[in-house]
Amino acid sequence: MTEHTGCVVVGGGPAGMVLGLLLARAGVEVTVLEKHGDFLRDFRGDTVHPTTIQLLDELGLGERFAKLPQSQLSEIIFPIDEHRSVRIGDLSRLKVRYPYIAMVPQWDLLNLLAEAGREEASFTLRMRTEMTELIQESGRVRGVRYRTEDGSTGELRADLTVACDGRGSIARQQAKLRPKEFPVPIDAWWFRLPRKPEEQLAALTPRAGNSQVVLVIPREGFLQLGYIARKGIDPQLRARGIERFRQDIASIVPWLADRVDELASMDDVKHLDVRLNRLDRWHVDGLLCIGDAAHAMSPVGGVGINLAVQDAVAAATLLAERLRRGTVTPDKLAKVRSRRLLPTILVQSMQRLMHRAVVAPIVDGRRAGPPKPVQALMEHVPQASFVPAYLIGVGFRPEHAPAFARRAASES
Ligand SMILES: Cc1cc2nc3c(=O)[nH]c(=O)nc-3n(C[C@H](O)[C@H](O)[C@H](O)COP(=O)(O)OP(=O)(O)OC[C@H]3O[C@@H](n4cnc5c(N)ncnc54)[C@H](O)[C@@H]3O)c2cc1C
Repeated sequence: MTEHTGCVVVGGGPAGMVLGLLLARAGVEVTVLEKHGDFLRDFRGDTVHPTTIQLLDELGLGERFAKLPQSQLSEIIFPIDEHRSVRIGDLSRLKVRYPYIAMVPQWDLLNLLAEAGREEASFTLRMRTEMTELIQESGRVRGVRYRTEDGSTGELRADLTVACDGRGSIARQQAKLRPKEFPVPIDAWWFRLPRKPEEQLAALTPRAGNSQVVLVIPREGFLQLGYIARKGIDPQLRARGIERFRQDIASIVPWLADRVDELASMDDVKHLDVRLNRLDRWHVDGLLCIGDAAHAMSPVGGVGINLAVQDAVAAATLLAERLRRGTVTPDKLAKVRSRRLLPTILVQSMQRLMHRAVVAPIVDGRRAGPPKPVQALMEHVPQASFVPAYLIGVGFRPEHAPAFARRAASES
């Protein structure tokens, strides 16, 4: 079966859902294909930064977002020893409407965006529909071939195809776009432990020891733990077994010793192969890559979702009018990259600097915390914690909803 749409978006993650919603609000016929049957994925990045919360407000979705289960992070505090800690980032210093990071399950955010999309006449979301191949004719991408869960296949032709299929993007690969990989010294492992009702935590507290870092992230009703160690040791960790892993966690964060037994096996510990890469060219004729498909981010700063969302806003702003007229030329696609490249490079450079100066010395066992000059600066000039908070929470060139996508809260 062959069908046609204005824009086919491959992948219903943060980039794809925001792009789909915005284009639909511009009156563009848009179809989002998502291979999974739902958005339920644990630890796929649950950080929603001040700029994204503000964007949701501009889209008239702020009230619905506020009703989602969430915890708020306003500080990043690094303990130096038993008695002292240093505040590395303080989001409460930001002059923004929402001076905190909202920790919201990604599936709740995606469901909210899907619900808002379905209110638009020209929006279609097809779950359980996997793009299998790009349709390429006469040197141009003209849509996708897909397969649904029941095995049926079809062709969806489109004026534009946007690859929002994440860091393992098939669409990107088929267009022969290859990202440049940057070396990364760490991997991350995510798991959850119970949180006691009396534990009032509003800060992200990394703790370091024995060549490992443990991040304790307070979530609504539980604790999310991130374990950071040298890249490539996942097989060793699994071979050592859960008891050794529990001991490591309890020795770095002693107050968790009373609950590490909740980890039944290493299956409860999800490995993230940390990647940091970037496409040089984000498009070919008829196809644009955005979000993780254009640039995979390190978890440092938890900025992946927010950059993906901002790419989507920029793409919708720059391309909606052209898509309504049915003509998107390669030079217009190049404009999306031109707009988003600098913020991407700056954030990735910051992450690489953090890898080199802070994380690598810890996982190599050379240090147990941030560099001494940074500790001294943050201790003696507390206002300096504004800078990391700004870079993480607001960043470079935050995008705002274009006029065609804005709604008052009651309209949405
Ligand atoms: C384990 C883990 C933890 C992370 N933690 C954080 C964090 O704390 N904070 C943060 O900001 N970022 C985090 N990230 C990164 C963050 O999740 C991504 O940067 C962000 O989700 C990118 O959004 P995206 O829409 O570009 O891609 P993705 O979120 O990867 O979405 C891609 C979507 O495309 C779908 N898809 C893939 N292939 C196809 C196909 N062929 N056909 C149809 N659909 C397809 C996938 O099912 C998926 O839904 C984490 C990533 C991982 C893997």
